[in-house]
Amino acid sequence: MQGLMMDVPLTLKLFMLRAAQYFPNKEIVTRRQQDYHRYDYRTWYQRVQRLAGGLRSLNIQKGDRVGTLAWNTHRHLELYFAVPCMGAVLHTLNLRLPDDELVYIINHAGDRVIFVDDSLLPLLVRIRERLQTVEHVIWMSDQPNSETPPETLNYETLLSAEVPVFDWPEIEETAALAMCYTSGTTGLPKGVVYSHRAIVLHTFAAALKDALGIGEADVVMPVVPMFHALTWGIPFVATMLGCKQVFPGRYLQPESIAQILEDEQVTISGGVPSIWLPLQEILSNGEYDLSHLRTMPVGGSAAPRSLIEAYERMGIQIIHAWGMTETSPLGTISRIKSDLARLSEEEQLRIRSKQGLPVPGIELRGIDEQGLEIPWDGKTMGELQVRGPWVIQAYFQDERNDESFTEDGWFRTGDVITIDGEGYIQIVDRTKDLVKSGGEWISSLDLENAIMSHPEVVEAAVIAIPHVRWQERPLAVVVVKGSPPHREEIFAILRERFAKWQLPDDIVYVDEIPKTSVGKFDKKMLRAQFAKHRVDV
Ligand code: AMP
Repeated sequence: MQGLMMDVPLTLKLFMLRAAQYFPNKEIVTRRQQDYHRYDYRTWYQRVQRLAGGLRSLNIQKGDRVGTLAWNTHRHLELYFAVPCMGAVLHTLNLRLPDDELVYIINHAGDRVIFVDDSLLPLLVRIRERLQTVEHVIWMSDQPNSETPPETLNYETLLSAEVPVFDWPEIEETAALAMCYTSGTTGLPKGVVYSHRAIVLHTFAAALKDALGIGEADVVMPVVPMFHALTWGIPFVATMLGCKQVFPGRYLQPESIAQILEDEQVTISGGVPSIWLPLQEILSNGEYDLSHLRTMPVGGSAAPRSLIEAYERMGIQIIHAWGMTETSPLGTISRIKSDLARLSEEEQLRIRSKQGLPVPGIELRGIDEQGLEIPWDGKTMGELQVRGPWVIQAYFQDERNDESFTEDGWFRTGDVITIDGEGYIQIVDRTKDLVKSGGEWISSLDLENAIMSHPEVVEAAVIAIPHVRWQERPLAVVVVKGSPPHREEIFAILRERFAKWQLPDDIVYVDEIPKTSVGKFDKKMLRAQFAKHRVDV
């Protein structure tokens, strides 16, 4: 027997029209060099309609790829909706990638148009000649009246010249909405293509009280870049609900972020740990009024427990989430089950620093080297595999598809987890970052977390270095605030929690840990840098 409900396609248009109709006066704010740009959803929607008209005038058809090389701004939000709702595919480009990778990604995706922020134009100009499919470059600037650079079209001219779109096309829910290339792979980046259906379902789930927990009254600021995993879906959730939205532009220095949080009375702001770590000190001295800020979703890499604790002391709740570009990206989130609220604060913190439970809609399992499911004992390690309506089914035109999926249809994340008796997962490593010493696995993340609990430590990355007897041994690379603490102090912390054979062979102090284009520790680079590091133990 069939259900007798309407078969309305799940497309992004539903959220766009709702926001325009019911919340026309809510604000969308962007930080500029000297001030803030602000307008309301009414104006935003009018501009989205004109932008869609502009794309039509450039002969952009259903399924065509439209690239963006841009910071978090209101214009990027216009593109986030106009492009998919007129049937084209939004392709957000990671502005921190090396030239060769950007060229590969743009050519591989076949972008026909690229919208570029003024400050990023030199980057595009540098690679322009190598782009095989790009017909138009659209220049976006806070000073649109200044002279339009050669061989580009002015974004504002495109919008003002065009007939707004009122007749949004019917789009199948399985059609592509956006694409994004992963940063997490070795070798060439892989393309992930999101469908309207996946993003609509992800948006509903992400908004849930037990997920990101966002409501209409929230003031939402994504610090996670709009080019990374669709900003974790935050702009879609905020638009669906009609929230006030705030964008930091390219002003990501800790002082700027703190100022925006205060000025715009932001209530929820998401970003990777490397954004919140340096901010912690500035915020804790009480200089800024953050009384409105209640929640910060943190993910992308492990949120150290010390970070969760530090923000908790300021009355700001960090919710630790795990996800991947391939999972749209929200996969798990760590919130305390109500029947665990009886646990001590200490115990609760321990759980909150894990990556949590799957969000409704996602199924997960841990698989060991024999292909068996790991027990829920909080100790046995296995690869995290996931399945769900917003999880990737195949990479875009990529021969490496086979290795990423199991025969029974699960996605192999490449992350190594344990699962505790309550079902909370803990990421212990990437498969390629685990340290295998004398046949035993050592979790680099566990060691990093413990080292970062030393008050003088700002960042710590643990990597495997080759060892004649044990094949691999852990090495800790550490950044400190002032003068380096005595090695013994750090080892004392570690000895309380780890067996002797799990301790790093050495601790080296550096000024900075190299980061990837999306702000994670670049362990590949660290391994190369310290490959010859030897310790006599
Ligand atoms: P990306 O596709 O760039 O978002 O990277 C996804 C990868 O980031 C995952 O496979 C994990 O290795 C890592 N990751 C994301 N969130 C977390 C987290 N909360 N804790 C530890 N690692 C994480």
